[in-house]
Amino acid sequence: MPRKLIAGNWKMNGLRSDGHALARDLALRFSTEKEPAFDMLICPPAQLLDSIGQVIAGSGVALGAQDCHRETKGAFTGDLSAAMLADIGCRFVIVGHSERRQYHNEIDLMVAEKAAAAHSAGLIAVICIGETEAERDAGEALTVCARQIAGSVPDGATAANTVIAYEPVWAIGTGRTPTVRDVMEMHAHIRAELSRKVPDADDVRILYGGSVKGSNAGELLTLPNVDGGLVGGASLQAEDFWTIAKASE
Ligand code: PEP
Repeated sequence: MPRKLIAGNWKMNGLRSDGHALARDLALRFSTEKEPAFDMLICPPAQLLDSIGQVIAGSGVALGAQDCHRETKGAFTGDLSAAMLADIGCRFVIVGHSERRQYHNEIDLMVAEKAAAAHSAGLIAVICIGETEAERDAGEALTVCARQIAGSVPDGATAANTVIAYEPVWAIGTGRTPTVRDVMEMHAHIRAELSRKVPDADDVRILYGGSVKGSNAGELLTLPNVDGGLVGGASLQAEDFWTIAKASE
């Protein structure tokens, strides 16, 4: 069974003062924990990546970005390449988050290109997929996620360079979560679909994301084929995030 990964997506939250304090708190907890049964990843906003990399250095907490460009360099104002992220110490990058798909019109092909760029730069791509509420209501959730896997996971993906985050769009930031049965069904389905593209699909970490908090983490993150969580709102307080991580053990 892959080792659990507990990932925090800070989104567009955090100034130097509170961001550094949060990172420092988590780094201390993780580095003093005796044999943690999970890996921990934080994905702060871009302006904090370099300095937070220094705050968490040596703690074992990994650093990740929230997006990257598909090209390595060039005339792309405002963008950051995967190579730049690797250069400042990132090990992971989230690609295809539903907020990127929604607000930046990212489609599966673009997500696959970004994931491939991440791989070329030596980063682990956290590829996000998930159905909308209308798609679930229409009974299309499994088909939609299969299509997103086929389109968003690039050639060359392996368990070492790729993590999948299943995040039903309607569960993100809403306080609503799918049933345990739905999560189990979807994660088994994702594993099966991955095996069409990824040689060591059994070892790929498949995270659940969407309104994970301390009170539901134990139930959701210990299910079969759930190899950790991608946490938004509840990753902004060290105590909440840590409670989630411990509940996943
Ligand atoms: C997310 O945006 O990846 C997420 C899961 O958010 P939240 O935990 O706030 O629902």
